[in-house]
Amino acid sequence: MIGKSDLIEAESGQLYPVEYKRGSRGEWDNDELQVCAQALCLEEMTGQKITTGYVYYAHSHQRQLVEISEELRAKTQATIEAVTTLLETGIMPKAIYSKRCQGCSLYSRCLPQAIDKVGRYQEAV
Ligand code: SF4
Repeated sequence: MIGKSDLIEAESGQLYPVEYKRGSRGEWDNDELQVCAQALCLEEMTGQKITTGYVYYAHSHQRQLVEISEELRAKTQATIEAVTTLLETGIMPKAIYSKRCQGCSLYSRCLPQAIDKVGRYQEAV
């Protein structure tokens, strides 16, 4: 895995990644997973255990603490493995429109509502 952090800060020798987001905190845990993935990269680079990170939300000017817990590490690792499988097999899951599509940066490529309409049309004919 290759990571590119927006910012790495240090306090008393302890490093931590900071991820900048333009919007507000959403209801999904993708931001925490991203910070954890950066922490894993930083650990591999430095040999230092990374215990925290932050997400800075520009819209609300707030920094959210992300504890790099064992649970978050496991979720991040599972996500990395799932994405690796997608890349290796080239088999993408069907796009299903949901609340999370609003504001998703992939929306213009993914077109979940259009895919859904095509699917319904194909079922009807
Ligand atoms: S737009 Fe596509 S990638 Fe983004 S959340 Fe919706 S289905 Fe997922």
